[in-house]
Amino acid sequence: MQPIYYISSRGNSAPVMASEAILRGIAPDGGLYLPQRLPTLTEADLTALLPLSYPERAAKILSLYLTDYTEEELLADCKAAYSERFVPAATGIHPLREGVSVLELWHGPTCAFKDMALQIMPRLLSRALDKTGEALDALILVATSGDTGKAALEGFQDVPRTSIRVFYPVDGVSRTQKQQMATQEGENVAVTAIYGNFDDAQSGVKQIFADPAMKEELAKQGKFLSSANSINWGRLAPQIVYYVSAYCDLVNAGSIRMGDILDITVPTGNFGNILAAWLAKGMGVPLGKLVCASNSNNVLTDFLSTGTYDRNRPFHTTVSPSMDILISSNLERLLYFAAGAERCAAYMQALSTEGKYTVDADVFEIIRRDFDGDYCSEEACLDRIASTFANYNYLLDPHTAVAVTAAERYLCGNESTHILVVSTASPYKFTPAVARALGLPAVEDEQECMNSVANATGTTPLEPLTAVFTKPVRFTKVIDKADMAKDVLRM
Ligand SMILES: *Cc1c(COP(=O)(O)O)cnc(C)c1O
Repeated sequence: MQPIYYISSRGNSAPVMASEAILRGIAPDGGLYLPQRLPTLTEADLTALLPLSYPERAAKILSLYLTDYTEEELLADCKAAYSERFVPAATGIHPLREGVSVLELWHGPTCAFKDMALQIMPRLLSRALDKTGEALDALILVATSGDTGKAALEGFQDVPRTSIRVFYPVDGVSRTQKQQMATQEGENVAVTAIYGNFDDAQSGVKQIFADPAMKEELAKQGKFLSSANSINWGRLAPQIVYYVSAYCDLVNAGSIRMGDILDITVPTGNFGNILAAWLAKGMGVPLGKLVCASNSNNVLTDFLSTGTYDRNRPFHTTVSPSMDILISSNLERLLYFAAGAERCAAYMQALSTEGKYTVDADVFEIIRRDFDGDYCSEEACLDRIASTFANYNYLLDPHTAVAVTAAERYLCGNESTHILVVSTASPYKFTPAVARALGLPAVEDEQECMNSVANATGTTPLEPLTAVFTKPVRFTKVIDKADMAKDVLRM
């Protein structure tokens, strides 16, 4: 097999192997790493994947991209990542109604789809240290407003040659989220709350990354700073897997026949998840339209209907907070494929100086061939949770409800054989919003709120979410934001 090199979306960095792309995260010219060509999957290849388990499929697909990892290494990592920690299996497909299925990506330890990437990426990073001959160990720093921090902690827990430190705003996360992080297990993890908001936590982390004295001090301790950002190729590649795997599962279930075109709707924030679907399509999986579903932060909906990306607009706090994003970083990778490195770099330059750019007509046409965009108001989102439960006895979280709304609207105006709605979180991860949608009385306490939703719907909260209220608390420290660097050195 020919090796695949990784190049920068901005065209000014030397090509590297996958392990180095994963270790660096971002290319030296500020661009994002991309495979220089897409590997292909023929119908025969897909047919060969049908009888395999999720970890086996994952190892096969990742081995096409990560050509400096052996299939043996990948199989070991995929088995460790996607077996016991996902209940009952890595993913699940729920048939919602004729022609519509839901892909559940929240069977992992934090009950949200970030687990799909963050359970495997740390293992790939750990191997990358050995493969590149890096002498120092990786110290991962994360500033979180809740969900990413917990998923990263779970992913890096006890992974060799790595350690992780998470900072969160003391009053900026929910009680469940705080409890999830404070009870985190593992010898190489630490969690610190700071007085301040999420921006304070994030700018504190950025300052630490930019400080040469910190770099030197940490090197003496045998460490270098690294991040687990969603722009890292090591997070994107594992997301391609579940689109291929879901296609196979739908064929196995008889919902579609091999070769049928499958449309997809994805609740989108940073554009990583939907880009993975596009890469699967580019490899040859018979996918049709990719419907990008947004909440009222609808910058992508406007982009996909006009060709102008304009982040100069009010920021809305919504019931689907993981999609409250005005700069969708992974869109840059799509722009590279559609426009080439030079124009991609110019668009990104315009985005950083003016907050907007307009793509050329030929670029827009290429993007429109595969993508459609739609958005959903807060009210429509809550209505969708209620009506989907009433009509189909299936409980949606608010992010998934945004995607179901976009899928239903898409089906009103378009022919479709089958549409797959990507579900990114368990409804129990966002219980207060779900309770409101169902018209249940408001209860302050989140644990009680879970019970109230469970009683009203006859569903059961997932074990990882209820367990956090009984596990021993390990991390209680709250510090001033000015003391973050000191705190990192003390780890
Ligand atoms: C992160 C996240 C999203 C957005 O995914 P992107 O890859 O950033 O587009 C959607 N829903 C949930 C629950 C998430 O955690």
